[in-house]
Amino acid sequence: MNKEIATPVRTKEILEKHGFSFKKSLGQNFLIDPNVLGNIVSHASLTKRTGVIEVGPGIGALTEHLAKSAGKVVAYEIDGRLLPVLEDTLAPYDNVTVVHQDILEVDLEQAMAEHFADYDQVVVVANLPYYVTTPIIMKFLLEKVPVTGMIIMMQKEVADRITASPGTKAYGSLSIAIQYYMDAEVAMIVPRTVFIPQPNVESAVLKLTRKEEPPAEVLDEDFLFKVSKGSFAQRRKTILNNLQTSLPDGKAKKETILTAFEEVGIDPGRRGETLSVKEFAALSNALYKDFSGK
Ligand code: SAM
Repeated sequence: MNKEIATPVRTKEILEKHGFSFKKSLGQNFLIDPNVLGNIVSHASLTKRTGVIEVGPGIGALTEHLAKSAGKVVAYEIDGRLLPVLEDTLAPYDNVTVVHQDILEVDLEQAMAEHFADYDQVVVVANLPYYVTTPIIMKFLLEKVPVTGMIIMMQKEVADRITASPGTKAYGSLSIAIQYYMDAEVAMIVPRTVFIPQPNVESAVLKLTRKEEPPAEVLDEDFLFKVSKGSFAQRRKTILNNLQTSLPDGKAKKETILTAFEEVGIDPGRRGETLSVKEFAALSNALYKDFSGK
C-alpha cells in the first residue's frame, strides 16, 4: 500500500513522477506534514454525513485526509496541470470529485444543489492560496450558501486581522465583515517548515463557525461593509473625517453625517478601530437613507 500523499518522501515522488513545477503566482505551497493535516481535519469535526468543499487540492495531501473522514469532497483546482496528478493520487477514493475551475468563478448555489443535497451539513476545509484568501472567504459569506463552518489555513497576519477585537491594531473592516457572519478563532499556528516550498510568512489555521444570528439587524449588509471600510480609510483619522471623504458628497453633507452620529449616540471624534460590529451596524443604518444611493 502507498504511503500517504503528504509524507515528504511520497510528495517528492509524486512531483518527480509528473514533472511538476510550482507556480508561485498560484500560491502553491503544499503541506508535507501528516500530523498537521490530521490536526486540521480534527477541527472540522467531520462525519460521513458531512460534505466538504476544498479550495485548491494541489496534489491531494489534504483531500486524502478529508476523503477518509467526510461523506463527500468536492475540490476546486485552478491549475490544469494538477488534474492528471490528482487522478493518480486520489484514485483509491471514490467520494472525491475534482473540478477544474477558479473557485471565484464557481456558482456556489448550484454546486450545493448538485453535490450536497443529501448531506446534513457542508463545510469548507482548505489550505488557501494566500494571494486570494480574503476574496475566497467573502465569496462564501456573501453568496449566502448554507456552509456551516470553514477551517482554513492562511497567513497568520490575515488570521490575526480576522479575529481581532475592537481597540487593537489588527482590528479593521476585514474583522467586521467576517465577524458579522461568523465566530472566528485561531485553531493553530503553523510553522513555515511544514510546506514545500516554504512560504515567506508564518501561517495559521482559522476556524470560522456560522453565527446563529447576526450580531445586529442591518438594513443593508453591503452598505455596512462600505461604511466600515470607509471608516478605516486612514486609520489615524476620526470616523467623521474618514466618512466625509468616503461617503458620496460626504464633505458637503457633514451636518447630515453628524445627525446620524447623534441619533445612535456615537462620538464622531472616535477612531474606527474603537467601534464594535454592533456600533457600525447602528451607524450604517442611520446613514443608509441619505448615503446608500438606494
Ligand atoms: N491543498 C494542497 C495542500 O495543502 O498541500 C495545496 C494548497 S496550495 C496553498 C493552494 C492550491 O490552490 C494550489 O493547488 C493552487 O493551484 C490552487 N489555487 C490557486 N488559486 C486558486 C483558485 N482561484 N481557485 C482554485 N484553486 C486555486
